[in-house]
Amino acid sequence: MSDLSYDEWADAVHEGRLLGLACSCGHTNGSPTAACPHCGSRDLERVDLPTEGVVHTETTIQVPPETFETRGYQVVVIEVGDARVMGRVEEPSVEIGDEVTLTGTIAEDDDRPAPVFEAR
Ligand SMILES: [Zn+2]
Repeated sequence: MSDLSYDEWADAVHEGRLLGLACSCGHTNGSPTAACPHCGSRDLERVDLPTEGVVHTETTIQVPPETFETRGYQVVVIEVGDARVMGRVEEPSVEIGDEVTLTGTIAEDDDRPAPVFEAR
């Protein structure tokens, strides 16, 4: 059984922590999931992920949804330890391979928090 709910993950992000789920196959998921996306196992263990990582991919959203006031923010996938976490980067922007650290959260339009990273 997965022992990480979405709310627990979100609460941890608000506290400046990143939680993931480690599978016995070696895959670590950077967000709550019912089953390992790699092997399908549901026997996942909650782990603390590092809050510093490296930019794996990034894309800049030039035309955000109506509810967002800022333009040109980046959506990034950060490698933290063995896992990957999706988040946001505010100015200045980052490039693939840049080292970043978790600095806070931003509310998505559905009020869910997204981790915010900053170059270090
Ligand atoms: Zn697995």
